[in-house]
Amino acid sequence: MRLVDYLGGDERVVQAARVSYGAGTRSYREDAGLIDYLLRHHHTSPFEQVVLTFHVKLPIFVARQWIRHRTARVNEVSGRYSVMKDDFYLPAAGDIALQSDDNKQGRREEALEAGEAETVRDVLEQGQREAYGKYRALVGQGIARELARINLPLSLYTEWYWQIDLHNLFRFLQLRLDSHAQKEIRLYARLVLDIARNVAPRCCESFERHVLGAVSFSRDEFAELKRRLAAGPDRARSNDARSDDSDNAVDNANLPLSGKDLERFEAKLDTGRQL
Ligand SMILES: Cc1cc2nc3c(=O)[nH]c(=O)nc-3n(C[C@H](O)[C@H](O)[C@H](O)COP(=O)(O)OP(=O)(O)OC[C@H]3O[C@@H](n4cnc5c(N)ncnc54)[C@H](O)[C@@H]3O)c2cc1C
Repeated sequence: MRLVDYLGGDERVVQAARVSYGAGTRSYREDAGLIDYLLRHHHTSPFEQVVLTFHVKLPIFVARQWIRHRTARVNEVSGRYSVMKDDFYLPAAGDIALQSDDNKQGRREEALEAGEAETVRDVLEQGQREAYGKYRALVGQGIARELARINLPLSLYTEWYWQIDLHNLFRFLQLRLDSHAQKEIRLYARLVLDIARNVAPRCCESFERHVLGAVSFSRDEFAELKRRLAAGPDRARSNDARSDDSDNAVDNANLPLSGKDLERFEAKLDTGRQL
C-alpha cells in the first residue's frame, strides 16, 4: 500500500473550522484543542476537507469487506480488460485457526498446531494453483477474459486506487481496526492509519484518543457507574454493593443494570473495549 497523494492536513481542518467559528484559534495548543473539540462534538465537515488517495493491493475477500465503505471513490484493475496475475494471498501458518465457539464471524485466538496448519496451507495453495492454471488455459484458448476469470478464488490479489476524506477514513478505521473485524483487513487498516498519521498527525492522535480508545456508556450503564462511584472504592464492585445482608444493602430491583446488561458493563470496565 502507498499514499499516491493527499490534500490538506491538520492545518486545513483548523482553517475550515475557523470559517464557521470566526477568528478562532492561534497557537498549536489552541489548534490541538479545537481539533479535539471538533471530534468530540461530531463536527465532522472540517475533516472532510482533507483527502487522501491510496494505491492498495489486496486479496479479493478483503476488497469485498473494504468496498462496503461507500463514501470513498474507487478505481480497480479490470479482470475483463487485463489478464489477472498469478498472485494469491496465502495465510501464514500462525494465522490458521479453527472456527471460534463464541464468535460466529471469527476464528479462535490460538493457531492450529504447525503441522496441521501446513496441511491447510497446502490445500489452499493447491486450489489456487489449479484454479489459476485452468484460468490461463481458458485465456490461452481465446475464451473472453471476463468469463475465463469467474472461477478464480477470493484469495486472488486485486489492486485499486482508493480516495477518501479524513472523516470517512476515521469511520473506516473505527470499524476495521475493531477486534470484531477480520484480522486481514485489520492489518490493512493499521497501515492506513500509519500513513494518515503522516498527513494529519494531530487529527489522528485526537481520533485515537477520543474515538478509537474511547468506550461509551448507555444511560443505564452511566447510572450504574455513578452509583458505584458514590458507593466508594470499598463497595464499588456490584457484588459487594448488591449483598443483601449488610446495613447498606441496596434494593436490587432498583439497580440500573441486571443480567446480560450488567455482564456487558462489567466486561467493558474490565477490558476497556466497546462491547
Ligand atoms: C465487523 C463487521 C462485520 C460486518 N458483517 C457484515 C455482514 O455480515 N454482512 C454485511 O452485509 N455487511 C457486514 N458488514 C458491513 C457493514 O454492515 C457496513 O456496510 C460497513 O461496515 C460500512 O459501514 P458504513 O455503511 O457505516 O460505511 P459507509 O458506506 O462509508 O457510510 C458511512 C455512513 O454514510 C451513510 N451512508 C453512506 N451511503 C449511504 C446510503 N447509500 N444510504 C444511506 N446512508 C448512507 C451512513 O450513515 C453510513 O453509516 C460488517 C462490518 C463490520 C465492521
